[in-house]
Amino acid sequence: MSDTKSLAGRNVIVTGSTSGIGLGIAHAFAKAGANIVINGLGTAQDNEPVRAAVAAAGTEVVFSGANMMKSEAISAMVDQAQSSFGAIDIIVNNVGIQHVSPIEDFPEEKWDAVMALNLTSAFHLTRFVAGAMKQRGWGRIINIASAHSLVASPYKAAYVAAKHGLAGLTKVVALEMAEYGVTCNAISPGYVLTPLVEAQIPDTAKARGITEDEVKRDVLLKAQSTKKFVTVEQVADTALFLCSDAAAQITGSNISVDGGWTAH
Ligand code: NAD
Repeated sequence: MSDTKSLAGRNVIVTGSTSGIGLGIAHAFAKAGANIVINGLGTAQDNEPVRAAVAAAGTEVVFSGANMMKSEAISAMVDQAQSSFGAIDIIVNNVGIQHVSPIEDFPEEKWDAVMALNLTSAFHLTRFVAGAMKQRGWGRIINIASAHSLVASPYKAAYVAAKHGLAGLTKVVALEMAEYGVTCNAISPGYVLTPLVEAQIPDTAKARGITEDEVKRDVLLKAQSTKKFVTVEQVADTALFLCSDAAAQITGSNISVDGGWTAH
């Protein structure tokens, strides 16, 4: 899909895109011809190798270090994107963090942080670009949710609540934008083997006294029926499809890419 330059001339912001799924989406969209704002923690200098790798596809790529917990920083990122490229055609609300704890011990500051990043940042970025997208009569808003936007797991109160909230926000925005050529959809991956997930495997193996393969199969992929991780590329190609003309009538959807997890 990405060799057709289907996004030539499109300008895109992908939040939380210096690693994992967001980075995969940035690469796929740049290969499809889009200019990209990549965003993540750290300085421009720290992130220059990542920026340059995405820009190797031949489009313009700029880095924003906006802290997605702060609405002023999100607003400044939109200004930066507009002054670099002009109008924003596509946003991918991807940034997200996890915190695992029983509800009775769930730290208030972790609840607030998970909500701010996984849900409120999408509200802010969407509201900052929605008016202009409506005026121009074309736009794509893609929210990276999770299987946890549809089903729950214990100890993930904030994450599950935020992702269910993101699925709800997706529907509201879809309805408000429906007559203006702007679609809004969620993609809900199951487990994807990003650096974040990979880093948890050795510790879980040690804690449970099992092998790393057993952690993958019996812990992480327990509910994922295919017993295979979703790949970053599979999520990125789904996002690319949602930007195509073929997907113009898909809006307000929550597309599962979860190896059958939520079919249970
Ligand atoms: P990741 O940890 O690999 O990447 C997170 C990115 O967010 C990084 O670029 C990081 O710099 C950035 N970031 C973190 N805090 C930030 C902040 N305050 N401001 C700006 N940027 C910040 O994550 P991932 O595993 O690729 O997950 C990406 C999204 O996909 C998340 O919303 C996550 O909930 C969702 N998701 C992941 C999985 C999975 O198995 N990995 C499954 C379902 C959904």
